Amino acid sequence: MEMTKLTGRIVTPNDVEYRMARVNNNLSVPKFPKVIVFCQNANDVVNALKWARENRIPFRVRSGRHSYENFSLVDGGLIIDVSEMNKITVNCEKMTAKIEGGANLGHVYHSLWKYGTTIPGGTESSVGLAGLTLGGGIGMLSRWFGLTCDNLLEVEMVIADGHRGAKLIKANRNHNSDLFWACCGGGGGNFGIVTSFTFKVHSISKVSIFSITWGWEDFEEVFDVWQHWAPKTDERLTTEIELKSKEMNQIIAQGEFVGDSSMLKKLLRPLTDTGSPTNIFIKEVPYIDAVQFFDDPSGNVPSHHKRSGSFLEEPFSKKAILTMKHFLANAPNKNSNIWHQSLGGKAGEPDPKDTAFYYRDAIIAQEYNTIWNKPDEERENLRWVEELRDALSPYTTGDYVNWPDQFIRDWPRNYYGENFTQLREVKTSYDPFNVFKFPQSIPPFIRWF
Ligand SMILES: Cc1cc2nc3c(=O)[nH]c(=O)nc-3n(C[C@H](O)[C@H](O)[C@H](O)COP(=O)(O)OP(=O)(O)OC[C@H]3O[C@@H](n4cnc5c(N)ncnc54)[C@H](O)[C@@H]3O)c2cc1C
Repeated sequence: MEMTKLTGRIVTPNDVEYRMARVNNNLSVPKFPKVIVFCQNANDVVNALKWARENRIPFRVRSGRHSYENFSLVDGGLIIDVSEMNKITVNCEKMTAKIEGGANLGHVYHSLWKYGTTIPGGTESSVGLAGLTLGGGIGMLSRWFGLTCDNLLEVEMVIADGHRGAKLIKANRNHNSDLFWACCGGGGGNFGIVTSFTFKVHSISKVSIFSITWGWEDFEEVFDVWQHWAPKTDERLTTEIELKSKEMNQIIAQGEFVGDSSMLKKLLRPLTDTGSPTNIFIKEVPYIDAVQFFDDPSGNVPSHHKRSGSFLEEPFSKKAILTMKHFLANAPNKNSNIWHQSLGGKAGEPDPKDTAFYYRDAIIAQEYNTIWNKPDEERENLRWVEELRDALSPYTTGDYVNWPDQFIRDWPRNYYGENFTQLREVKTSYDPFNVFKFPQSIPPFIRWF
């Protein structure tokens, strides 16, 4: 039998491009692949998967390079990178968009904006739509339009076929519906390689944005007011709050409202009336300016960092808030922070079993972040995140699969709750030989063929 050849733009360690091609957003989990293939079309993806299987070479799938644990990289293996497949076609009559699997969020938002439309996604422009959607997708429109995956209509995916092959299939609500269900929150890299997504798009023109800053002295009061208010306020308003380290002396709440600024001002009163804000900014802007406002440039640049997270299904007690304060007063460096986004609204409407994204009852997503410069600072930073995670665990539930953390021992329950068994069923149907695997991938049930 003739062996399959790799097709597409191929980069190996001898090429000058290799140094940049092998690097992901997280520099602290370095990997050295043997070959990186930048696929140009679905046929290149099929060939790459066949090549890896025929040559028995480990492989990973990559799009936007933002996996916290670099699950999209592997030492000595093949990286099937789809980032150069990023065409976007909008159908204004049907209000749908077909987006190739390698598009990043910045490209998606700017392309859809030309048609006065958008999809609800995340905030950083360099994040890949693929990883984001497959794990759920939260952002500044979640409470009004739902999670990114709630707006998904169809995927085209290259899956393993038989013992050595690969084939392109479609999944939607009527066809391969179990796989489609799994693609709505089951996490990237588990079932196959998405070559294109079709989304329902929403009309959008102007929105209102805000930013309010307080000092450290308002810590408990501000967080408490925000956590009770943010998941319950008008569904058109999605907000975030960042508790910075004591050294930074800043608490910042920000958000986006699909409505006018005078209405937003009224909705924000519980926040603006709390503590002593040092800065209040409220403005009505074209939607694309809001996209830029939330696109923090530092998140797009590769760095040494550790991130992990959880969900809150109930507001935090005073003790839990003081625990956060204690950790932020004793952070490894000033860049450590705890970040939160409000959920509820449309993101909370589906039943936990309706999609693979399980945490529909969560009111808040909470993230622990640290970033450092020198390799010898790593230990202390990793320890801070894990100790913080443990200390808050009596008050939190699960973790978001898009914020994977190698130190979470019971990751199946943490990422997938009661949906894990169903996800294993889907895995067994579409990838029974466990071709798509990484340290926290969904295992198939063993079958005797
Ligand atoms: C700075 C930063 C900001 C973030 N902001 C947000 C946010 O606002 N909202 C939010 O919900 N999340 C956010 N995230 C988390 C983000 O959703 C995940 O990191 C996501 O997995 C990134 O996808 P990617 O394609 O960029 O990454 P990659 O590292 O390329 O891939 C991530 C995972 O998906 C798999 N994968 C990639 N492409 C495909 C494909 N085509 N088919 C199948 N599997 C694939 C990979 O194998 C890997 O397991 C952020 C992350 C970072 C680092």
